[in-house]
Amino acid sequence: MALEDLYREVILDHYRNPRNRGRLERPDASASGVNPLCGDELAIELALRDGVVSDVAIESQGCSISQSSASMMTEAIKGKSIEEIKALVSKFRKMMSLDEGEDAGFDPERPGAVLGDIEALQGVRQYPVRIKCAALAWNTMLEALQETA
Ligand code: ZN
Repeated sequence: MALEDLYREVILDHYRNPRNRGRLERPDASASGVNPLCGDELAIELALRDGVVSDVAIESQGCSISQSSASMMTEAIKGKSIEEIKALVSKFRKMMSLDEGEDAGFDPERPGAVLGDIEALQGVRQYPVRIKCAALAWNTMLEALQETA
């Protein structure tokens, strides 16, 4: 299967079967965000224990890119420390060309090895309007984490 088809499959899978949907009973931090260009809306709740994201839940509606990016992100941040999450966000932003610097999110020799499913979003950077869709969950998650600082 061509890599682009594989990426499309991964995005569709997260869109159709979004991970970590819903709400938490007792969130330690929360934030919500919108992407008015596309109409994507998203609310995130985080539970933290000893500086680690122990649980995460998302309620969202919008396009397939925003939804699947949110789903992938929840899988990627669960069980990670705030420092690890910041490093992950940095790799994501470089992969999406939101920040300058080498694309640290992708090793062409080993697809999926660095950022896992998230790498499937790299095709989106060819469509600047959609980058905002992909980034919504990540920006909102950072906002929620700031609450805890
Ligand atoms: Zn969108």
